[in-house]
Amino acid sequence: MQENKVALVTGGSRGIGRACALKLAEAGVNVVINYAGNDEAAEKTVKDIEAFGVKAAKKKFNVADKEAVDTAIKEIVEEFGKIDILVNNAGITRDGLFMRMSDTQWLDVINTNLNSAYFVTNPVSKLMIKQRSGAIINMASISGIYGNAGQANYSTAKAGLIGFTKALAKELASRNIRVNAVAPGFIQTDMTKDLPMDAIVERIPLKKLGNPEDVAAAVKFLALDTDYITGQVLSVDGGLVI
Ligand code: NAP
Repeated sequence: MQENKVALVTGGSRGIGRACALKLAEAGVNVVINYAGNDEAAEKTVKDIEAFGVKAAKKKFNVADKEAVDTAIKEIVEEFGKIDILVNNAGITRDGLFMRMSDTQWLDVINTNLNSAYFVTNPVSKLMIKQRSGAIINMASISGIYGNAGQANYSTAKAGLIGFTKALAKELASRNIRVNAVAPGFIQTDMTKDLPMDAIVERIPLKKLGNPEDVAAAVKFLALDTDYITGQVLSVDGGLVI
């Protein structure tokens, strides 16, 4: 059991983030979840985390708002004393062909999926440097590896997260901080509920969609089960990108 460790999971109220929060809680980690607006989902996830006998808290803030992030991180440190594990998971899609993509579609996705990781990791990595330990996991996507038509904004943000992961891994290794990324394929969550899944499954070598728990297992592995892996991108995609 990982007693006394503290994790922050952004976008931890629903979908993949919720599964990561529960998986870490099951391992004995105290978990703070962040979310944007859905109070009901956040409350349920907090209760489910607490059922594992660990401490939980929810923080509603927009990860793309630097001031709101700084305030929330200060509150978390006052309440929990430290952050050992950071999962930069909050994300959105605003798909569309590039020719028709609006500035808002582009900026919302870059701000929420990529700039957010900078805003959150900046103060958290400073804490981890002082602690001389930490694990950061960035939620990328196979779209950031192979590029997806209709997702120029999202593919760019996720590819950026992969570069961020590798650069930070090199910078922070000497302080005993590991930085890795997970690249999910098609996972059944609210984000993907309107996609033509039957056609997609045909393209996946394992012939099935992923569950949030499949991704959470990879996150827990990188956060807790190893101390010698850093700078890596672990695909959880049923073999879609080989
Ligand atoms: P989801 O079910 O739509 O959940 C998104 C979570 O992020 C929710 O907790 C939501 O909070 C939160 N969120 C959204 N915008 C936010 C903001 N501005 N500030 C703070 N929190 C915010 O999404 P998901 O499918 O679990 O995806 C999670 C991550 O995995 C994303 O980074 C996504 O890009 C990545 N991913 C997903 C898939 C997939 O197939 N699902 C594949 C590859 C990568 P509220 O509940 O308050 O809205």
